[in-house]
Amino acid sequence: MKTLIKLLLPIALLVSCEAPKGVEVLATTSVVADAARQLLPPEVEVQALMQSNIDPHSYKPIERDVHTINTAKIVLHNGLHLEGKMTEILEKVSLNKPVYAMSEPLSSSELINVGPNVVDPHIWFDLKLWERCVRELAVFLSEQFPEHRAIIQNNSEAYSAELLIAHNTFYNQSSKVPDSLRAIVTAHDAFSYFGRAYNIQVKGLQGISTAAEFGVKDMSSTANFIIETGLSTVFTETSVNSKSIEALKEAVEQKGGRVSLGKPLYSDALGEQGTTEASLIGAFTYNTTQILNSWK
Ligand SMILES: [Zn+2]
Repeated sequence: MKTLIKLLLPIALLVSCEAPKGVEVLATTSVVADAARQLLPPEVEVQALMQSNIDPHSYKPIERDVHTINTAKIVLHNGLHLEGKMTEILEKVSLNKPVYAMSEPLSSSELINVGPNVVDPHIWFDLKLWERCVRELAVFLSEQFPEHRAIIQNNSEAYSAELLIAHNTFYNQSSKVPDSLRAIVTAHDAFSYFGRAYNIQVKGLQGISTAAEFGVKDMSSTANFIIETGLSTVFTETSVNSKSIEALKEAVEQKGGRVSLGKPLYSDALGEQGTTEASLIGAFTYNTTQILNSWK
């Protein structure tokens, strides 16, 4: 009998080791995953549910995602209904495990209201605002991973400094550009916080959600705006279909104007893992380089 137990024990251990184990930190978007990766030590696995090029407004969790969410230790999301089709599942899992929204520390006066009970969720490209969100995330992660408290605190301070340097650098660069030139046109309204932070007029063809339709009137008024401001470039976005912006270019040309298509900007999703743009600061630097070049 003893021999049998000796023989069976390693098998039992093997089975228990192979039992499906969830990811430690599951973030909905690549932007939120980046914030967690900046704070946590590399041994804590952070996974983004939505990969690059994915539009969070229209993202519906598939069966595999539900399993990933259910087996994760903690779940992080942006909040403010960015993940519009995930509201129900996030509410449900919050009954069983810690679920944290990046937007939590922001007060209503800091948010951009776009309609009755509708708040713009694109808070991350105002790096100063995001710095506050990340600082609070560090407090939450310290509670969840007390064994890594010291490293999270150190990383938080270092990353805050990096965000503020990137913020100030672009603020100073863009403030040298004449007011009349400081405008951008993109596929959807993902850059309102960016515009407010860096004093740039922004116009999106679609509203704050890509689920919103745009009409002929929007197309015509945006084309007029481009001609009046003398913008040389309109931008597509990596996570949004480029057809609307291509149609806008044609609308400008039909009105006798001329505008070119810029390289796609990162809006609701960061770049592929392994690229510089997989980090928020990398994507921000890429975006702002494209924007500054378009004003030359
Ligand atoms: Zn968006």
